[in-house]
Amino acid sequence: MLLRILLSSFALLMILSAGTVAQQSSARVSRQRTGAVPTAKDRLAPTSQDAAIAAALKEISAAQIRHAVEWLASFGNRNTLSVEQPAASGHGVAAARDWIKSEFERYSKACGGCLEVALDTFIEPPADRIPKPTQISNVYAIQRGSDPENSKRIYLVTGHYDSRNSDTLNTTDPAPGANDDASGTAVSLECARVLSQHKFPATIIFLAVAGEEQGLNGSQHFAKMAKEKGWQIEAVLNNDIVGGNQTPGDKLQDLSTVRVFSEGVPAAATDKEMSMLRALGGENDSPSRQLARYVQEVGSKYSGRTFHPTLIFRRDRYLRGGDHTAFNQQGVAAVRFTEWREDYNHQHQNVRTENGIEYGDLPKFVNFEYVAKVARLNAATLASLASSPAPPANVRLLTKQLENSSALVWEPSPGGLAQGYEVVWRDTTAPDWEVSKRVPKGETRITLPMSKDNKIFGVRAIDTKGHRSLIAVPQPER
Ligand SMILES: [Zn+2]
Repeated sequence: MLLRILLSSFALLMILSAGTVAQQSSARVSRQRTGAVPTAKDRLAPTSQDAAIAAALKEISAAQIRHAVEWLASFGNRNTLSVEQPAASGHGVAAARDWIKSEFERYSKACGGCLEVALDTFIEPPADRIPKPTQISNVYAIQRGSDPENSKRIYLVTGHYDSRNSDTLNTTDPAPGANDDASGTAVSLECARVLSQHKFPATIIFLAVAGEEQGLNGSQHFAKMAKEKGWQIEAVLNNDIVGGNQTPGDKLQDLSTVRVFSEGVPAAATDKEMSMLRALGGENDSPSRQLARYVQEVGSKYSGRTFHPTLIFRRDRYLRGGDHTAFNQQGVAAVRFTEWREDYNHQHQNVRTENGIEYGDLPKFVNFEYVAKVARLNAATLASLASSPAPPANVRLLTKQLENSSALVWEPSPGGLAQGYEVVWRDTTAPDWEVSKRVPKGETRITLPMSKDNKIFGVRAIDTKGHRSLIAVPQPER
């Protein structure tokens, strides 16, 4: 009897919940005016954590980050033009360069030589903020992917280690650059220290550049070099001013979030691509924007309830620039992480007190716990990307025939890690992907009942553990 009651309540429950689904579906049908729309279960659900990545993130330490920021500030003035001061003096950008290199080498020693540490040194010719030919060095460490085929894909994290005070050309007075951008350099270093203890099929590069304050010189050189060498950089995370500035009495800083800026119209788009973009409304779907959405998804998976990225659909802050743009100009997907609210008294300022206001970019204004949260978000993104299969290749939306359904085709994800695909879509006015549908392994096409004119589609590859690739947006095939 009891069993019968239980069974009948269960049946009632099923009818009720089926009713709810039916209501939701019918609401969607009337809105979309399509036939077989996806059911509620197709809504883009949060994906589960990778336990190894979650464990690695726990190793990221605010104390380590504090050590790096204070150490970098101790070089006094890291203006790019101070390079003539000998590194042995412990003052200037050359001393900072050598220290960053020695840190990467120390981490490499701790992982049995798993990092290839190198300098990218060049002479920058005179320009606006460079009075004479100046030697600039980028410092980087490569953690080569463990899978020969997938190690061709590179994911990169960067920050700039040069600094400035009120005068862009001043190389002697204090320019501690704790927030701008020892904080971002510390993110690169801490990601290297922690992720080098783990293995990933794809390659990660940890980078610290100079010349940012003189005109993005270091990142421009590195991005061009990478292109010339044929390095397949698939994503760049640029951290610049991620210190969570805390001015006593400031109640408007928000330490629960970090802004992630991404370009909409790609800086490197060709005329043909621009014309397609204008015709189809692709200005919200650049590779950099997909990367930003990836960061958002990773954040919801790993950052917990107390911290989240805020996507800003704009290349950078008003009329200001950063190193991610140098990569964008070479056609590479790149985003910028910056704290919620900047304090302009604490950047690009001579260290001084005037009318009771403290000016200068000092370590005491940096919130190291906050920088650690930003570093965890970066590390989670890098680890997820470097664990994931490559995106499917040559994704196309078939447009030869006029029809009210949408047929997508693609070529398999190269590298052999993919165990299937996921097609995602959203309304043209929606900021992020809304719905997903799994496509079984071996299949590389799908026809969906809704009209391509009313949706934006994307396809990504998934491996057995649920790691997702970046999303590839289809090109029309006529
Ligand atoms: Zn900066």
